[in-house]
Amino acid sequence: MSKQVNIGVIGVGHLGVHHASHLANIKNANLVGVFDTNPQRAEEISKKINTSIFQSVDILLENVDAVSIVTPTPTHRDVAEQCIKKGKHVFIEKPITSSVKDAEYLIELSKKHNVIIQVGHIERFNPALLALSNLEIDPKYIEVHRMAPFMSRGTDVPVVLDLMIHDIDLILSFISSPVKEIYANGISIMTNSVDIANARIKFENGSIANITSSRVAKDRVRKIKMFQQDLYVTIDFLAGISEVYKAMGASQNDPDAIMSAPLVGKDGKHRQIFYEKPKVKKTDALKAELKNYLNAVLGTEKPMVDGFAGKQALDVAIKIHDKILEGFR
Ligand code: NAD
Repeated sequence: MSKQVNIGVIGVGHLGVHHASHLANIKNANLVGVFDTNPQRAEEISKKINTSIFQSVDILLENVDAVSIVTPTPTHRDVAEQCIKKGKHVFIEKPITSSVKDAEYLIELSKKHNVIIQVGHIERFNPALLALSNLEIDPKYIEVHRMAPFMSRGTDVPVVLDLMIHDIDLILSFISSPVKEIYANGISIMTNSVDIANARIKFENGSIANITSSRVAKDRVRKIKMFQQDLYVTIDFLAGISEVYKAMGASQNDPDAIMSAPLVGKDGKHRQIFYEKPKVKKTDALKAELKNYLNAVLGTEKPMVDGFAGKQALDVAIKIHDKILEGFR
């Protein structure tokens, strides 16, 4: 394969247009064209970014090595199946599918056809998170809030599968221990499914994550706080700010410490808290995510979020959602 990936975008709605316009500008992508079941939308976007329109997925697949699937979640399984069966690599927007069974089916199919599945858990590429990549994050307790004003887009799935799944994927990337117990509840306000949800996940290693997600909020919020023995980290994914508080032994009255504890450690030094605000690069998370996908197709990188990771996040999301439904009965 040449150093450029021939790629197409299936579904050019709210998010798909951004996939297409990035792919038109990334040097190892050759954006061959787009397909959308809404011909007016396909026409509008093909003109906007100067690319071809294909009349069906099958015709598009004859011209590409890989695709981005940015269609509504309930269609992911069938669209991805069609692409994988033709031997094409697939980037599937989150959540991977609507059911774990469908995700497992696609993973098996991708193995059989020797193609990559990457899943669009974009927060993994958020520059505020990447700014912390030098830290050993192993949290005992995580608190996350993700809120957004109501929009009808995305309501084809409950809030747990639309918004909370971003945080579930992040939490599973930080805590490498099986889930032991889940408590959850939720409320329907604007739709017939769950619009506000809270979940507390207990892991086998004792770590706990508390997640709140709402799609009926006045303002947007996307914040995580993580606590461990000597480290407290906060990330504001929207503002692109991360903050680090490290506890370590230091001489009393160290002028750089923001807090001093009377506690003296085994090293004879006073426990003190030091604050850092790492520099966050101004990078575009979607562009970084697509570059990772293209490099994975070219064999030079591994997908940051593969089909298995996408399935794991979905599995926990569905368990949370089932717990909420139990509470409704
Ligand atoms: P959207 O409704 O704005 O766009 C979907 C597009 O797909 C529409 O243009 C529609 O005509 C087209 N379409 C529908 N069925 C199709 C099919 N079978 N084949 C081809 N085209 C089809 O939705 P959206 O907000 O762009 O969301 C799309 C996907 O992206 C969803 O899975 C959603 O969860 C995900 N998403 C992810 C993020 C993120 O942060 N990673 C953000 C928004 C949406």
